[in-house]
Amino acid sequence: MFQLFRQMCNDAIRIAVATNPLSRYDLISSAYENLKGYGLHSHYIQNVCGVAFAAFQRWKKDAPQEILDILTLPHFKRQGVLSHLARLRIEVPLVRMPFLRLDNQTYKLDYLLLRIPTRPRVFEYIVLDGSMYHRAFLADLGLKRGSIVITESSVVIAFSRKVETIEPAGQMGLDVNERNVTWSDTAGKTARVDTSQVVEIKERYKAIRAKIAGLVSGDRRTMRRLLSKYGRREKNRTSQLINRVSKEIVEHAKQNKLEIKMERLTGIRRLYRKGNHQGTSFRGRMNSWTFREIQRQVEYKATWEGIPVAYVSPRGTSQICLCGSRVATLAERKLYCPGCDRIWDRDELASKNVMAAPLVRAARPSKRGDEGGTR
Ligand SMILES: [Zn+2]
Repeated sequence: MFQLFRQMCNDAIRIAVATNPLSRYDLISSAYENLKGYGLHSHYIQNVCGVAFAAFQRWKKDAPQEILDILTLPHFKRQGVLSHLARLRIEVPLVRMPFLRLDNQTYKLDYLLLRIPTRPRVFEYIVLDGSMYHRAFLADLGLKRGSIVITESSVVIAFSRKVETIEPAGQMGLDVNERNVTWSDTAGKTARVDTSQVVEIKERYKAIRAKIAGLVSGDRRTMRRLLSKYGRREKNRTSQLINRVSKEIVEHAKQNKLEIKMERLTGIRRLYRKGNHQGTSFRGRMNSWTFREIQRQVEYKATWEGIPVAYVSPRGTSQICLCGSRVATLAERKLYCPGCDRIWDRDELASKNVMAAPLVRAARPSKRGDEGGTR
């Protein structure tokens, strides 16, 4: 099924390039006859065209003018667009990953029992597995189900629900660091959630990967298989830990009706900012995946609860005191403010600065409005 789906997607992408459809429905009508030949349930044609149209649009968005000129040729000149692109050595997007993406009209889900069609009148049943956390979503019939993505090792189900955004009674600023997340709220409370285990797991798996590479260096296939297996385990373990941390933070925001403010990560720069005591040693650098994962989990859990999330610029959050004076760096993540003659904990000051900082959108309008900001 994965192979068929992939081939159908790639066929549909080529048809999209050749016909320049304006919508998914356009693509369905021009690709229907071709895709029907695969003999799968007719729902698959819609699903395939959904994936293909999205891939086509992403490709078109970044395409240089010469490609756009080719794509918008009048209809009678369209013949041979694909070979024309091939002559110019312009690559058309390809789906390489083995997966199935099915909309909620295609699959049936009865708690843990998933039914997907294959050929007309033939179904495949999959019994899902999941933690209590996952099962709670499956048991909640008030949630609207979206599409599912099935891969060799996972089933991802999208849920949605309508939430009323709460009117915040205060704010909470988060400072995400290599080994902790520190937050402060408008009630004057500051707390630190330890995340050093994430770093430890990452280092342990890094050593495991180096060992694998040394042991089976001659056998590239085995090496790839083992690396991806341990990569998955590492990701599962770190995600679980971050899950606990993000849950705890969002719970505090929920109970106290607080808006959550975080720093917008722009590139990698944020991770090496001054005063972070991370220096240039490789060990000390926080993996940007971890940083993004913490923010991503906090954001989606908060949004799910109707808690507003906002992003602020990371500029100066650990260099300027709340009074406006520039602070001096002391040892052990301490800072000294000459303005108010006090010693700050670096992370506490950063979280208070994040809480007080103006929103990114308000401070400097960004062209890439879909990244960050309140959604
Ligand atoms: Zn000060």
